[in-house]
Amino acid sequence: MNIEFYQALIQSLSKTHTKLIAVSKTRSNDALMEAYQLGIRAFGENKVQELVAKQEALPKDIEWHLIGHLQSNKVKYIAPFIYLIHSIDSLSLLEEVNKQAEKNNRIIRCLLQCHIAKEETKYGFSAAALETVLSNGTLTAFKHIELCGLMGMATNTDDAMLIEQEFASLQQLFLAIKSNYFSAQDSFKELSMGMSGDYEMAIKHGSTMVRIGSSLFGERS
Ligand SMILES: *Cc1c(COP(=O)(O)O)cnc(C)c1O
Repeated sequence: MNIEFYQALIQSLSKTHTKLIAVSKTRSNDALMEAYQLGIRAFGENKVQELVAKQEALPKDIEWHLIGHLQSNKVKYIAPFIYLIHSIDSLSLLEEVNKQAEKNNRIIRCLLQCHIAKEETKYGFSAAALETVLSNGTLTAFKHIELCGLMGMATNTDDAMLIEQEFASLQQLFLAIKSNYFSAQDSFKELSMGMSGDYEMAIKHGSTMVRIGSSLFGERS
């Protein structure tokens, strides 16, 4: 755990409306406990099996965030306890989350993942697909989902201008969707963007949740 980085980070986040999600994928329970002792309570994982194992072993006041691609057949394992799913990338996935949330007598918070990067491989809705899904009213049928905002990832590049353009366009999309579809819903307020390499730029463009792994815990092997 890089304590100097962590202290500087929380100092700078305290001047913003941005929350830290500590991305703990591949890290040991001991590493998570070290972060927990420093006061971190929000952890992000990208694999269901690993997330469930950590949730069982670690303190129950941790908020678990799923940030990686979620397969519909695995939703049932996290539905009882997941705090926020950042990575809703299809309508059929949302439907399954709604179904499992109902079974567990819960409302599950979700973000819609948007495809903003130039790279081909990233999951998520395009701006046009999002517009379609939101305008046809399908989402209002999901009574056990609380849509809390959008998530996105910038292209993995050294080109700072490209990253800035992508975050700026996600912020524009978020603001447009909020005012067109969620103006009466205070809970639609989260914009999850920014990782170790680009979180400062993300905060400049209105990020409310930065997902930081390697700068906190060291490079992943
Ligand atoms: C791994 C991961 C992160 C954290 O990346 P770092 O560069 O280690 O900070 C953030 N978001 C998602 C979706 C990830 O998979």
